[in-house]
Amino acid sequence: MTSYVSAALRRFVGQRANYVCEYCLIHERDTYFGCQVEHIISEKHGGPTNEDNLAYACTYCNRAEGTDIGAFAASTGEVTRFFNPRVDRWTDHFSLNGVIIESQTAIGEATAKILRFNDDDRLFERQTLESVGRYPPGEAIELLN
Ligand SMILES: [Zn+2]
Repeated sequence: MTSYVSAALRRFVGQRANYVCEYCLIHERDTYFGCQVEHIISEKHGGPTNEDNLAYACTYCNRAEGTDIGAFAASTGEVTRFFNPRVDRWTDHFSLNGVIIESQTAIGEATAKILRFNDDDRLFERQTLESVGRYPPGEAIELLN
């Protein structure tokens, strides 16, 4: 069961993210299924429905995350929370090597693994966008700085 997110709150979350997925940086207009407002800490785990716990995420990232809030990071051997766009800086945990999203931390590793950032189909999509100057999108510049 999911809580109602008002149109105003959806608009706020989308505008705050420049309509870019706060995880993989794809712009909503460049992804077939668009982006969604999602709970960073899922409601199943007690996450509230407010602007501090909502993020803008593409359908792929959101579906892959599901209700998980963390994962096992092989590099540390510990269960590690996911990247949180409200408290973490993207560039502290990830970097772009062409269209490949590389992890810089255990948080980045856990997130990239579960959200399947670098699956073949997603790399193909980003390569296609890169070839037309749409990845990373200009709208992601604030997330990358
Ligand atoms: Zn995404």
